[in-house]
Amino acid sequence: MNPFSVQTLGSEGDVEKLNLDAQTRYLAGGTNLVDLMKHQIETPVSLVDLSEWEGASEIEKTGNGYRIGAMVTNTELANFAWREPSLSVLSQALLSGATVQLRNRATTGGNLLQRTRCYYFYDTAKPCNKREPGTGCSALTGMNRIHAIFGTSEQCIATHPSDMAVALMALNASVSVKTAMGKNRDIALREFYCTPGETPERENVLEQGDLITSVYIPAGTRGTQHYYKVRDRASYAFALVSVAAALELNEETIHSVSLSFGGVGTIPWYPKKALEILQGNKFSVQLLEKAIDAELADAKTFGSNDFKPGLLRRVFLSVMLSLAQRQKKQPGHEGALYENR
Ligand SMILES: Cc1cc2nc3c(=O)[nH]c(=O)nc-3n(C[C@H](O)[C@H](O)[C@H](O)COP(=O)(O)OP(=O)(O)OC[C@H]3O[C@@H](n4cnc5c(N)ncnc54)[C@H](O)[C@@H]3O)c2cc1C
Repeated sequence: MNPFSVQTLGSEGDVEKLNLDAQTRYLAGGTNLVDLMKHQIETPVSLVDLSEWEGASEIEKTGNGYRIGAMVTNTELANFAWREPSLSVLSQALLSGATVQLRNRATTGGNLLQRTRCYYFYDTAKPCNKREPGTGCSALTGMNRIHAIFGTSEQCIATHPSDMAVALMALNASVSVKTAMGKNRDIALREFYCTPGETPERENVLEQGDLITSVYIPAGTRGTQHYYKVRDRASYAFALVSVAAALELNEETIHSVSLSFGGVGTIPWYPKKALEILQGNKFSVQLLEKAIDAELADAKTFGSNDFKPGLLRRVFLSVMLSLAQRQKKQPGHEGALYENR
């Protein structure tokens, strides 16, 4: 590791007093950043330690939603969400990620900003446009079994690894930020991440020194919820394909549907085309197939990940059919904000 200095953040108001430059990084749980520093992929000259940040580890339940402090750990959030029926998909996603020890340490802000798990991003002996712009993308013609099929470019096909972000996207969450100048701004999660395009090193819309202060989840995602993650091992593994979904049927009609896909996009994937086809229409296998086919029309594969469109299709169908089935088995629950765990 390279030498670095450490500053401490005591409160949100301290941001303006920090000495921030392009080589400064916020240190939350450190479960990703410290690894990247050990591999010399991140070489900050200065860290801002967030562990003493007062008030950032709280979860507030308001009349309209939930405000999750940036330093709330993945364990705390999973436990909280488990008790809130309309956040069930979030709890399931968090509990499917990493391990207990990691979740005890990992934070809400850090989880959103964790870097890709592309093998070539971690291998400093190989070209990688995300790590070193202009060097090339080794995954395009190399091992790309875990790589993206949506939102790719000639520059980069790495997936975003977060399970939590996929669930938060389905729940229509937004990210609250304090800028280095002390200004507050809110960014819808659906607008937060950047596909690689010509600048794969830029992964989100944050500017230098921006601090994530909290995540806001509006109440009111309706219907039964499910997060389904397909991975190589039952724990300690990132998603090959995942689907976060909430579905509410009114008789046979889709009254409300929320969806997001993980493991398939260079960013947590919001399937706009599929949602447009589903919303307000009569629920049927044919409708589900039409929706996923429309979304998959934009998919691009690279050899070893040719299996992903088919896998995503099957996982999507399975999740949606099981959600519909669960509602039919629970007459009277169709209109409730309830999840049947
Ligand atoms: C073996 C292993 C398995 C894993 N499996 C999974 C998995 O299956 N699913 C999954 O989703 N994740 C998985 N993870 C990743 C884990 O969830 C992340 O490492 C963790 O969420 C990062 O949070 P952190 O608080 O430790 O972030 P840090 O490592 O402290 O920071 C990560 C990044 O976020 C920035 N940052 C942190 N907080 C803020 C803030 N408030 N404002 C601005 N910037 C900030 C840091 O500067 C850094 O760039 C795994 C990790 C490991 C090591």
